[in-house]
Amino acid sequence: MTIGILGGGQLGYMLALAGYPLGLHFRFLDPSPEAPVGRIATRITAPFNDDSALKKFAAGLELVTYEFENVPVETARFLAERVPVLPPPAALEAAQDRLNEKRLFQKLGIAIAEFAEVADREALDDAVKQIGLPAILKTCRMGYDGKGQWILRSAEDVSRARNELPEANTPENASDAEMAPHTPFVLERLVPFTRELSVLAVRGRTGETAVYPLVENHHRGGILRLSLAPAPQLERTVQQAAEDAARRVLDALHYVGVLAIEFFEHEGRLLANEMAPRVHNSGHWTIEAAVTSQFENHLRAVVGLPLGSTNAIGCSAMLNLIGDVPDPAEVLAVRDAHLHLYGKSPRPGRKLGHVTLRASSPEQLASRLGELPSYFHRPEFSLEAVLRQPAPARR
Ligand code: AMP
Repeated sequence: MTIGILGGGQLGYMLALAGYPLGLHFRFLDPSPEAPVGRIATRITAPFNDDSALKKFAAGLELVTYEFENVPVETARFLAERVPVLPPPAALEAAQDRLNEKRLFQKLGIAIAEFAEVADREALDDAVKQIGLPAILKTCRMGYDGKGQWILRSAEDVSRARNELPEANTPENASDAEMAPHTPFVLERLVPFTRELSVLAVRGRTGETAVYPLVENHHRGGILRLSLAPAPQLERTVQQAAEDAARRVLDALHYVGVLAIEFFEHEGRLLANEMAPRVHNSGHWTIEAAVTSQFENHLRAVVGLPLGSTNAIGCSAMLNLIGDVPDPAEVLAVRDAHLHLYGKSPRPGRKLGHVTLRASSPEQLASRLGELPSYFHRPEFSLEAVLRQPAPARR
């Protein structure tokens, strides 16, 4: 059985690695000749809008899934006429536009930060009046890892952002006719959150669902650096609220596969920030520290196999290797450390790999984090802060 995957980055790479023991084969489509999956599977290098390449890609596939949420919806729809596409293209459509995403959360009764649509530069002042400062202005589309965002704390920040805003509503970024007219920006209240959490949930073809424990995430410059799983000092009610939110989204979209939702924890409540209709960086810990990894569960779901347990095994930390990588021998000298290198050439800001540390208790995890080589004690990992302050003190 051959599965087609749109996008050939590290998420696709890890999906394939999880799929080979299940007897699955993979074919990837990615516009970049550098896509790391080329090392381990058949890769077609073509743009997502190349219909003849898409036809060639789809021929003989059991189904198509994706590892990149900015695959054009039209590409997913074109393929869906030929072969099942899971998660359904409607999930891509909801997740690609922050406004669509927020409206979906609101419709499903999932709490989010207060926001206002910003149609163009001129509308920014009214939105600031409505939301107040501090606030965060975001492009509705194609923003990721903190790109396309402006934090507004003062009137000067507002005028600077206004000058920097790209022109809105060009024909290329106008959306499908059936969608609401495309609003290019959204202004959100800046939430003074206690921490950022994410949940990974999976829904199978028969509607069966399973949810992983919430994960605590630490970002630097908008990029995930460190995840602690399960999130320390997790209250049952918070986990339940996340599970409830995830199940609402999964069921509403008739979703099949793994879905990630990122939240802010604020005053003991969860506010949904965004979702990703795919396996997620904050779920990499599941490879070694959950009974079934997110990658295996995604494949089980789309293929129609029973889902595996989402229980955590002890506790773990996942650290992203960005821009450069540490000495593998130094990493692996730490007990229960696991190294994943994605086979990508180094470039500043590029995710090149990750390390997962497993332990049987939070104390043991903290001590193993402390043993990591100096690479991990750079400020961007916030490791010192995490080690110094036990979770309750941060809440
Ligand atoms: P996003 O692209 O929406 O995930 O935002 C990137 C990062 O910016 C998040 O991980 C947060 O650290 C921060 N951020 C985004 N939106 C807000 C908000 N409304 N309030 C506070 N921080 C935010």
